[in-house]
Amino acid sequence: MQMLKEAILQKGRAINQDVLLVDSFLNHQVDVRLMREVGETFARRFQEGAFTRVVTIESSGIAPAAFTALALGLPLVVMKKQTSKIMTGDLLETTVRSFTKGTQYQLTVKREFLGEGDRVLLIDDFLASGEAAFGVLNLASQAGATVGGIGIVIEKAFQPGRKRLEDAGMDVYSLARVKSMTKDHIEFVDD
Ligand code: 5GP
Repeated sequence: MQMLKEAILQKGRAINQDVLLVDSFLNHQVDVRLMREVGETFARRFQEGAFTRVVTIESSGIAPAAFTALALGLPLVVMKKQTSKIMTGDLLETTVRSFTKGTQYQLTVKREFLGEGDRVLLIDDFLASGEAAFGVLNLASQAGATVGGIGIVIEKAFQPGRKRLEDAGMDVYSLARVKSMTKDHIEFVDD
């Protein structure tokens, strides 16, 4: 997606060869016009998928996932990384290792928002090792739901996430695939 690649080149900043900062347009300040394009692009790609829900992980996935859900006319479910006292009821939980923080967190969803027979479209901001996506696959399977597609805004193609998910039978579609990056150069897979 050209508009996204331009934003990455102009405003993204690789802090090293592994981590890309996109906090000026994706996960701190949010370029909602770009996110609307992102959502509409995902919706076109996945419109025949017979999905019942769009699912994402808080917090950076919410903007692209919300526009995708809006364009597809589907409910959006946000999986939680932190539970709180007001989050009571029947919860599904799994442990995920965080790529950026190097720590673990509990990914949680209320059973009432993901159920038997649901067909899920997972939208997330980044794909690195695939741990976060596997956390969602795990929760979906606990709920009796299936994940029928995965839409990623920025895939770091030099990391193993895509291969791991494809080996698990997943349909993975990324809008920008970073082949390599250094502090002053970012290269995409299709260039
Ligand atoms: P994975 O679970 O695939 O290893 O990593 C995906 C999650 O880690 C994403 O949801 C995203 O929040 C975070 N992440 C992974 N790589 C990056 C990165 O290079 N930059 C930023 N900002 N977040 C990342």
